[in-house]
Amino acid sequence: MSGEAARHERLVALDKRHLWHPFTQMLGWLEDEPLIIERGEGPYLFDTLGRRYLDGVSSLWVNVHGHRKPELDAAVRAQLDRVAHSTLLGLGSVPAIELAARLVAVAPPGLSRVFYSDSGSTAVEIAVKIAFQHWKQRGRPEKCRFLALGEAYHGDTLGSVSVGGMELFHGIFKPLLFDVLRAPPPYCYRCPLGKSRPSCEIACAAEAERIVAAHANELAAVVVEPIVQGAAGMITQPPGYLRRLREACRQNDVLFIADEVAVGFGRTGSLFACTQEGVEPDLLCLAKGLTGGYLPLAATLTTEAVFESFLGPWESDRTFFHGHTYTGNPLACAAALANLDLLERERTVERAAEAGKRLAEALEPLAAHPHVGEIRQRGLMVGIELVADRGSRAPFPRAERRGHRAILEARKRGVILRPLGDVVVLMPPLCLDGAQLDELAHVTRAAIEVATA
Ligand SMILES: *Cc1c(COP(=O)(O)O)cnc(C)c1O
Repeated sequence: MSGEAARHERLVALDKRHLWHPFTQMLGWLEDEPLIIERGEGPYLFDTLGRRYLDGVSSLWVNVHGHRKPELDAAVRAQLDRVAHSTLLGLGSVPAIELAARLVAVAPPGLSRVFYSDSGSTAVEIAVKIAFQHWKQRGRPEKCRFLALGEAYHGDTLGSVSVGGMELFHGIFKPLLFDVLRAPPPYCYRCPLGKSRPSCEIACAAEAERIVAAHANELAAVVVEPIVQGAAGMITQPPGYLRRLREACRQNDVLFIADEVAVGFGRTGSLFACTQEGVEPDLLCLAKGLTGGYLPLAATLTTEAVFESFLGPWESDRTFFHGHTYTGNPLACAAALANLDLLERERTVERAAEAGKRLAEALEPLAAHPHVGEIRQRGLMVGIELVADRGSRAPFPRAERRGHRAILEARKRGVILRPLGDVVVLMPPLCLDGAQLDELAHVTRAAIEVATA
C-alpha cells in the first residue's frame, strides 16, 4: 500500500471510531466508504487520495468565491498577525466595528444595528429573542408569539427549531419547543391548499395575511426565508408572495424577520433576496456566505426603532442578555470584510445572476426526464425534485434513497452534491465559469439518469 493510501485508511478508521457526523445516520456511514477532503482550490476540493471534485454545494451553502481565494487568505493572515480573538463583551474590536458599518451600508434600507453570533441558528435565535423582548419593553407583553411557514428551516437550536416546520428534522423535539403559528408553505408543486397557479391567485399568501391579521394582538413577529425555502427542498416563492407577507406585518404591527442565512450574499441573483420583492425587514439574519465560506460568523441586523426599546438605565432590565463567547470573532470579521470587498470589486453578484441563467439552460434537457418532477431555481440555488411518476407526482419510496443514490453517482463523476431527500440540490460557489457550470449540469443529469433507472 502506498503511503498515501495507508494514511487514508488510517483516517477512515479513526473517523469511523470517533466522529459523529451532523445530519447523518451513522449506521449507514459506518458501512459506506467515506470521502475525506484534504484541500481546496477555486471551486474544486481534493480528497486524501488526490482525486478532484467540483464543490457543487459550496461546502454546504457557504463558499462564495471558491477555496483558497488569495484575498480572503491574505485578510485572515493579516488579522492573525494582529490578534486571533478578543471579546465584544465590554470591549470593541477593529474588524467587528468596520464590518458592522459595512453590513449596514449594503443591507436593505432601515437596518442600522448589528448583533453578531456564530451560526445561522444563533442568528435566528437572537432575532426571535429580540422580537420577544422588544414587545415587552414596548408595553405589549401579549405580543409574544411567532408565525412561521410550514416546511421552514431556521437552524438547530431549540428556538430556531421551534420556528422550524420540518417534521423529519423537528418532530421528535416537539415537547421541548414553544408553540408557533403556521402558515401554509408556498410549495406550488405540491400545493398544501390543493390549488394550482395562476388560478390560485397565491391563495397561500391570502391565508398568511388572514393569520397575521387574526393574531395581530399576540404576534411578536413573522419569520420567513425570503424567495427560497432552502432546506425544505428549494421551495421557490411565487413573485409577490413575500411582499404581501411583509405588508401584512406592517399593517398589523408585527415584526418581520428575514432569515437570509441561505439566500444572502448573491445566491439568488441579488446581494440579499428580500430586495427582489422590495422588502425591508425589521430583522435580518445572516450567516453561511457572510465570510465567503471561510469562518463561522453570523449577524442579526435590526432597525433603530427596535434597538431603542432596549435602551434604559442599567437597573431598567432592558439589557439584551445574550452573547456567545466568540461573538464577533476578529478573524471571521476580517474574512467577512474581504468577502464584501471582493463582492464589490469582482461584481460577483451580477456575474452570478448571469451564471444562474447559464446553469438553467444547461439543465433544460433534464426537465423532460420521466423521473424529474420539477426543477426549481433562483439564481444559483437549484432543487431538482425526483419522482417515481411524473403524471401523479408520486414520490419514490423513502427507503430507496434515490436522491442519495444520485449524489453517489455524481461523486463517481467528480462532483460533490448533497441531496434533501429526493431533491437533488445544486448550490455552487458564485465563481464558477461557463465550462464548470456545464460540467455541473452534465454530471447532474448523468447521475440522475442512473439513480432513477
Ligand atoms: C443553514 C440555515 C440555518 C442554520 O445555519 P447554521 O449555521 O447551520 O446554524 C438557518 N436558516 C437557514 C435558512 C439556513 O439555510
